[in-house]
Parts: sequence; structure tokens; C-alpha cells
Amino acid sequence: MSSIKDAVKLMKDEEVEYVDVRFTDPRGKLQHVTLMSTEVDEDFFEEGFMFDGSSIAGWKSIDQSDMKLIPDAASVYIDPFYAEKTMCVHCTVVEPDTGEPYARDPRGTAVKAEAYLKASGIGDTAYFGPEAEFFIFDDVRYAVTPEKVSYQVDAENAAWNTDTPMEMGNLAHRPGYKGGYFPVNPSDEGQDIRSEMLSTMKRIGMKVDKHHHEVATCQHELGMIFGTLVEQADNLQKYKYVIHNVAAAYGKTVTFMPKPIKGDNGSGMHVNMSVWKDGKPLFAGDKYADLSQEALYFIGGILKHAKTLNAFTNPSTNSYKRLIPGFEAPVLRAYSARNRSGCVRIPWAESPKAKRVEARFPDPSANPYLCFAALLMAGLDGIKNKIEPGPSSDKDLYDLPPEELAAIPTVCGSLREALESLEKDHDFLLAGDVFTKDQIEGYMALKWDEVYAYEHTPHPVEYQMYYSC
Ligand code: GLN
Ligand code: MG
Ligand code: MG
Ligand code: MG
Repeated sequence: MSSIKDAVKLMKDEEVEYVDVRFTDPRGKLQHVTLMSTEVDEDFFEEGFMFDGSSIAGWKSIDQSDMKLIPDAASVYIDPFYAEKTMCVHCTVVEPDTGEPYARDPRGTAVKAEAYLKASGIGDTAYFGPEAEFFIFDDVRYAVTPEKVSYQVDAENAAWNTDTPMEMGNLAHRPGYKGGYFPVNPSDEGQDIRSEMLSTMKRIGMKVDKHHHEVATCQHELGMIFGTLVEQADNLQKYKYVIHNVAAAYGKTVTFMPKPIKGDNGSGMHVNMSVWKDGKPLFAGDKYADLSQEALYFIGGILKHAKTLNAFTNPSTNSYKRLIPGFEAPVLRAYSARNRSGCVRIPWAESPKAKRVEARFPDPSANPYLCFAALLMAGLDGIKNKIEPGPSSDKDLYDLPPEELAAIPTVCGSLREALESLEKDHDFLLAGDVFTKDQIEGYMALKWDEVYAYEHTPHPVEYQMYYSC
């Protein structure tokens, strides 16, 4: 964590030419404005920087568009990609006249969620450990695109076949379908690109620990060490930024969309969470899976509000193509220390300090500020209202007899359903004004546009199914 003094010192020591002022829009995309470093001093960090927010989807209208960015010195890093030496800083947005947080600013919501936790007296710090998966495809100028891989996976699922998308036009050694999952190179073709991504993250000051190929063809995951809510949401934005840009340098593209390939695993963003008070872990105890009663209530809150959470944790129409049985993604609102088919898992922990709960339904299309804030608010609602999570589900849920399976509630099946849930059940988000009604309305309007765009567009598979009807 650097202070304003440290940030200005870094700028001078590194002979920074530009300062890139960054903020995140409601959909989760990182936005930026670049200033000459001569414009930046300690006052800049205190007083902020005016900008026109009218062109950001879901923010102010053109007639009341003035907004102020307040840079957070704790988030500074030297950009690893720009040709000119540039220091980046993540910002929250405030109203220029009052200095109050702008309600529709996602980072501001995350800041308020941390304050709400402290004010609640339940704990003082919440740690988050997101595991965002992603796919690397070739740039469209080359061969491997998601459409081609989807087509290939369909064929491969029918029978073992050594052809892979990589082989189109290239008969040299290539791994078979899923050949990249865990065997060393040359089966794993992603080693160098992943290492470069991870090293770049380390160089900009992120705490990272590992990388590996994931289960699906072309799918990967890099490991970040856990951090506090806002810090970790900032880190997830840096994670995506580094991954996209290293991929671009290799002539590749990356997608964090949750289900780019039909018939293969999708990309999740498991979120590991724990709450601490006075330097002690609140989730370790003597209940189920060595959890505390608070941790069980926290899980109760997450499971109870899961369908509303989906609007933030799984906010794309594509998210619901991942949340289906058979691909390690959860569908059932259940929890367990053992199996991975429920929404919440309690990973084995070597010490009480490492005790945490893992929400498995979120995906990397989520805005990390809103996703983490909403998860925390649901968990805290569980603790405040002593919401029991019910019995754990320790069998593989998909081995249950159909009647028992049907009795377990599920997550949403579509973004439409998630928005309808958010409309009905959002009081837990409004506690302490962490989220506001105006913000939720603005967010829903953006997301309804996506639902309509999707629902109103004929799908390629509909041509296959119905064209000749
Ligand atoms: N890709 C799986 C998901 O969609 C997770 C796989 C894993 O990390 N075990 O959540
Ligand atoms: Mg993982
Ligand atoms: Mg994984
Ligand atoms: Mg995991």
C-alpha cells in the first residue's frame, strides 16, 4: 500500500512522463484518461480530476455530466506496456459539488461495502481470492477462433480424434483434444505466454503465485494471492489488463466470456472469502468442516440471495450457458466441503487462518467491485439474520435420485431471471447505502438492453433447427 507521498515519489524516481487515470464502468470495463505527469502532484491526489462522465454507459446524462475522479494512491503501478513511461492509478468517482461518492460508481460501492463491514461490528476486514479462468485464441488473422473450436469440440465429443483446431493447416505435432490439461509442453502450448503474464503481474507489484492450463481446450488460469475487497477488485482489473495485453503481444486474443465453447468447460471465477476481526479469523470454528457459526450463516446468506447475486456475479447472457450440469460449474444452491457440484465449497485449509468459503458460481464477466461487494452484503445479511444454510450436501449431487435432486433449489437459468430476482430481492444490498436504488435501476437498465439484444437476435442454432421447417 503506498501513500500519496510514496506515489509522488515513485512518479519522480521512475521519471514518469504520463499518469494514466483509470476507473471502471458499471459493466466492469476499465476506462482511462492520460495526463502529462507535470499536471500531477500531491494536491492532485487530494483534490481529484474533473471529467465528463456522459459518454460512459449507465452514468450521467449529457446535461449533468460533470464528475470528479479521486485517485487512490494505494493502487498505483507503472504500466508495463506503454512505450512512454506511465504511472497508472485507479480512481473512485465523486459528485463534484458535494464530494459525496457517485452512487453508480462500482469502485465506490466496493469502498462503501468495506466501511459497512467495519460499521456492522461483525468484522473489520474481508479477504477475497478470485480465480478467474480465461481462453486464449489466435487473433482472427490466424486459425483458432472460438467458433472453430466449438465446431471441433462437437466432433471430438462424438469420438476420440487426434485432430485439434491447431492442426488446421498444420500437420506438425499438436496435442489432442484436452491434450493441454496438465501434461508438460509441448502438449501444453501455453507455458511461455502464461509465465510472461504472471511475471508481468509480479513486476507491477501484484502478489501472484502460480499458473496452469485449465480443463478446456485453450483454457488457462493464473493465481493471485488473496487481498482485501477493494484491493483485490483493483487487482482483478490489473489481472485482466495484463492478460489481454500480453496475449495481444503474442498475436493472440483472450476472452473472459464464461462459455465461449459449446460442449467444453466454461470459465468460472471462484471467489474465496473470509472475514476477520481484530486480527482473528472469524470463519474458523468447531462446526461443519471446521467452520464457525458465523461462517455457516454467511453461507446461508449467499445461498438465500444467490439468484439476486447472479445479476452481479453472472451478469452476461452468456453466463447461463456455463451454469449447466456436467462442466464443473454449479447449478444447485447447496454447500459442501467435499464435492464441487454445489454453489459453495469449503476448501480444505491447513490452518484456521486459511479457513474460507468458496463461491463457485461467479464468472469473470462480472464487474469485480460489484461482484465482491454483493457477495459480502449477502454473507453479512446471513450473519445478521442468522440464516441457516441447511444441511451440507456431501454426495455428488448429480448422483442423487431425481426426486431428491429436484428438491434442491438452483441458481438462475438466464440473465432475465437474475434481473427479475434483483428487482424483487435487493434490500440486503441497500443496507448502509452500500448499493442505492438509483444505482440498481441504472444497472438493470444496462443489463435489460443486453437481454433484449440477445433475445431479439436469431441464433445460428435456430437456423439449423428451424430453417427448413
Ligand atoms: N471451469 C470450471 C467452472 O466453470 C471450474 C474448474 C476448476 O477450476 N475446477 O467453474
Ligand atoms: Mg483455481
Ligand atoms: Mg480453475
Ligand atoms: Mg477453486
